[in-house]
Amino acid sequence: MAEVQLRGVRKSFGSVEVIKGVDLTVASGSFCVFVGPSGCGKSTLLRMIAGLEEVTDGQILIGGQDVTWAEPSERGIAMVFQNYALYPHLTVAQNIGFGLSLARLPKAEIEAKVRAAADILQLTHLLDRKPKALSGGQRQRVAIGRAIVRDPKVFLFDEPLSNLDASLRAEMRLELADLHHRLDATMIYVTHDQVEAMTMADQIVVLQGGRIEQAGAPMDLYGHPATPFVAGFIGSPK
Ligand code: ADP
Ligand code: MG
Repeated sequence: MAEVQLRGVRKSFGSVEVIKGVDLTVASGSFCVFVGPSGCGKSTLLRMIAGLEEVTDGQILIGGQDVTWAEPSERGIAMVFQNYALYPHLTVAQNIGFGLSLARLPKAEIEAKVRAAADILQLTHLLDRKPKALSGGQRQRVAIGRAIVRDPKVFLFDEPLSNLDASLRAEMRLELADLHHRLDATMIYVTHDQVEAMTMADQIVVLQGGRIEQAGAPMDLYGHPATPFVAGFIGSPK
């Protein structure tokens, strides 16, 4: 696990600034949730931490190391997307181990890592199946398995549950909380769902218009919302 620090991070696409100076520390081993309306910059911020998008200004530190210009593969992070694409012609085991195969790890090592991830995610009995024979929740677990096998210090999740129905979402929320405890990793989780934010987070970061409106523990935001926007979003009594 590692601390994640953003210092004065900005991002422009052409002449449009979409991230307008974000300063944030995500404590090592914590579960941090980015929440805010569609278009506020949640995904862009996550993609910059992952190194999938260059910052226009500012610095990103992971574990105290400046990774602002480091390759994604050098950052010790793994990202799970909303529209996780599994390879339909590969088995669950091959899907989970795919990135490791690309990295040319020895076969025995890949198999051991895949088995360990499958064990954590309760996928062991499904390792030989193809994605089309899995439920939505099981497919989502395979996508998380692909992240786990890379032993990241930081997990980034971009609305990973938004394609699931309400009851499955509630179940996966509990599983992710359990995973967080067992993996000893820092997790940053993006959602536009305030229930997810309130129930899962050590720290909630409320974003609006490319800025942090407020960051803090769920009950702090609920009890002491800094702005009417935060109060409205978190559902605090007025
Ligand atoms: P969120 O994930 O909170 O819904 P995004 O980070 O996807 O928001 O987008 C933030 C803003 O940046 C939006 O206005 C979006 O249109 C814009 N944006 C995101 N990616 C690009 C891009 N590649 N080119 C131009 N504008 C973009
Ligand atoms: Mg998004």
